[in-house]
Amino acid sequence: MKIFNEHQRQVAKRIDKEAVKSNWTDWHWQLTHSIQNVKTFASLLGINFSEKELRLFEATSRKFPLSVTPYYLSLIDAEDYTNDPVFRQSFPSPKELDIGPYDMRDPLHEDEDSPAVGITHRYPDRVLFHVSNTCSMYCRHCTRKRKVGDTDYVPSKKELLKGVDYIRKTPAVRDVLLSGGDALMLTDERLDWLLGEVTGIDHVEVVRIGTRMPVVLPYRVTDDLVRVLKAHHPLWLNTHFNHPRELTRSSRQALARLADAGIPLGNQSVLLAGVNDCPRLMRELMHKLVQARVRPYYIYQCDLSEGLTHFRTPVGKGMEIMESLRGHTSGFAVPTYVIDAPGGAGKIPVMPNYLLSLGTHKVVLRNFEGVITTYTEPSTYDPPACDRNCDTCELTLKTEDADEWRAVGLEKLFTDWDDTESLTPSCTERMERRADAC
Ligand SMILES: *Cc1c(COP(=O)(O)O)cnc(C)c1O
Repeated sequence: MKIFNEHQRQVAKRIDKEAVKSNWTDWHWQLTHSIQNVKTFASLLGINFSEKELRLFEATSRKFPLSVTPYYLSLIDAEDYTNDPVFRQSFPSPKELDIGPYDMRDPLHEDEDSPAVGITHRYPDRVLFHVSNTCSMYCRHCTRKRKVGDTDYVPSKKELLKGVDYIRKTPAVRDVLLSGGDALMLTDERLDWLLGEVTGIDHVEVVRIGTRMPVVLPYRVTDDLVRVLKAHHPLWLNTHFNHPRELTRSSRQALARLADAGIPLGNQSVLLAGVNDCPRLMRELMHKLVQARVRPYYIYQCDLSEGLTHFRTPVGKGMEIMESLRGHTSGFAVPTYVIDAPGGAGKIPVMPNYLLSLGTHKVVLRNFEGVITTYTEPSTYDPPACDRNCDTCELTLKTEDADEWRAVGLEKLFTDWDDTESLTPSCTERMERRADAC
């Protein structure tokens, strides 16, 4: 079955005459024919830049390299490329060189919260495991822009084992997120091995993969890959669609294969000025995702990384988008809007207020239409005092089912058994993991 259109055939033909025959859907061919310079990019789209423009674009791509798969490039509407969402996500803009006073190289302090090579351990029970240093394309809005184009490499088994060792000796870790770079840049064999190592650890309950392949190189999702992934359940996969245009027939086919293999799919979008900063467009994106059996997971406020200033919107734009989703569409089509806090504080959800006020026995709420309503609190409620002895509790959680329960952060303020009254979070567990802190 031919799954490429006439336009894609033309792009392939201009890159490589042989490609027209069969190679377009071969992901290795796509990778080895990635477009990595401004002139080729422009000529494939039939765009004529002036010498001056070329010099500016080239200067930008020297600082933040360019790389795009022929497939993703073929989604650009060459007639109107300046406004094109795919063009804006893949072609260097000289605005990337404007570094604002609040921009940072590593705003999320991923390097500081790294107790072992490739591991970022920020939350109590889960880690981010950077298993590849490379991607099939370089997103212009990459939060790890500082690293893009550093030596592109996939770590050796020996290096990966250092991360695995950290997870093995850290029993608190129950969820491992394989990311990168793009986790699916690993070969099927290497992934199979790594997933086996990670899921073989007793305290690891679930593994997740972070990848943009279904968006920028859907042909990576082969039957062989799906067979490998399927063998390591429970495995979840999060991808990164930003615009409805990206849900092509090939993408939807890749997503269907993954969903058919029983892999729960999620999507993380980034709110980007000039790409998707529109409530109507975002709603369309969410609808297309759920049609493809992908659950919208997060919308990220654009990070404060260097080179992203021109992509950032005010937080208010995200709020408008959330207002136009909640209540207006299926609950499962509504993602959580988060700001990944500078300094490594992690993802912080932000949303419009639905709770307007609170009295002694009534809660005043408003809905998405602006209706103001009340919820009457129960007049009798015996809160179960908790002494952390689940054996004597009337609720039926058996102690052996429960993890040892220690309160973290704000949780402490709500317990009966911890007398913390206020928080001055200076030496948190997360800080203690940093070598030079506390
Ligand atoms: C995003 C992230 C996670 C996963 O967070 P969830 O909210 O569980 O999806 C874990 N570790 C780090 C460092 C992260 O940035």
